[in-house]
Amino acid sequence: MSGENAGWAERGDKVLIGTYARYPAAMVKGEGCILTDAEGREYLDCLAGIAVCSLGHCHPAVTEAVCRQAKELVHVSNLYYTCPQTELAELLTRNSFADQVFMANSGAEANEAAIKLARICAGPERYGIISLTGSFHGRTLATVAATGQPKFWEGFEPMPEGFSHAPFGNLDVLEAMITDQTCAILCEPLQGEGGVRPLDVEYLQGVAGLCKKHNLLLLFDEIQTGIGRTGSLFAYEQLGIVPDIMTVAKALGNGLPIGAMLTRKELAASLVPGTHGSTFGGNPVAAAAAVATLNIILGDGFLASVKEKGEYLQAGLEKLALRFPALVAGGRGMGLIRGLVLTEKGVEKGADMVNKLFGKGVLINFAGNAVLRFLPPLIITKSEIRQLLAALEEVLAAYEV
Ligand SMILES: *Cc1c(COP(=O)(O)O)cnc(C)c1O
Repeated sequence: MSGENAGWAERGDKVLIGTYARYPAAMVKGEGCILTDAEGREYLDCLAGIAVCSLGHCHPAVTEAVCRQAKELVHVSNLYYTCPQTELAELLTRNSFADQVFMANSGAEANEAAIKLARICAGPERYGIISLTGSFHGRTLATVAATGQPKFWEGFEPMPEGFSHAPFGNLDVLEAMITDQTCAILCEPLQGEGGVRPLDVEYLQGVAGLCKKHNLLLLFDEIQTGIGRTGSLFAYEQLGIVPDIMTVAKALGNGLPIGAMLTRKELAASLVPGTHGSTFGGNPVAAAAAVATLNIILGDGFLASVKEKGEYLQAGLEKLALRFPALVAGGRGMGLIRGLVLTEKGVEKGADMVNKLFGKGVLINFAGNAVLRFLPPLIITKSEIRQLLAALEEVLAAYEV
């Protein structure tokens, strides 16, 4: 079987547009936290498809739900009701601030729906949306315009109008940016792509306060933080804030493509038939996967275990900071979205560290040019966390000699 990975990489590079810098492995099988490549090599997956496969790969309950639904009904469009889509919306609303849900296929599409809802609720004069520097909201034109990192929009200008970015963490500047045209503030409760950067609770409460004071909608992008990742179903529950509109996607279907925008009934009422839509959004198979996923995440003790394992990982990251102060500044995050914060010297080696871990069969990534990011399946065991920490320690120790 040797050379299978290189063979797939060569074939892929010929016919796939090169938008991704991929590792030289063709993955063929997944079970729990373990991925297997085309040459039979195993990897401890501490990225989970970028915060997607939270129940691990091929969780039996999700696989069963997908197979069952695929035998019954795969697709009918949104001209009709389907049982899984309604059941999913019931689960999401029963367990959040929201009364109603719009189903999409991805995070960017969920955010597009949120942006459109904010604008239609505010009326034609108020279209401005303020987001934060360092944020990530997607790759469509509007969501890339909302994203507070120039590297994602450079070369694709002109951007859609009405988006501005406030410096991360500064309430005074944010308030000064609010004009008569502003209709909403959009933020992630913790910036994932931007480097696992938590926003201060006081700052976020200040943002919510500004929204009240200036009659703006508060949009929370929980695409990466939602569905149990932070140890509560949604991160906002731990912050003492309730958004007006929230988006989720990534982990919602444990790997099936599905996203959702959630809001209160009064706001949702602005989206009448014909104002917005999606051919595939809330597709029965994806929705059935999401129902199975949520039922497990909402089960007894699941979220508490995410918090506990997150603290266990954090303690291990802090130990690495003590042992390798020249390279590592500390650990940060919530639940099982964690970052190992690198020092200036460590950042230079960040990409190399990820490559070395890949060589040791451990999958992580380098985020925000600042941290090694860990997004393991939420079902990861403490012994697998120890395996990750041991591999990190070996990699860091090798720079000392
Ligand atoms: C991944 C992500 C998105 C985009 O989701 P896609 O499914 O890739 O479109 C948007 N916002 C946040 C916070 C994300 O992490």
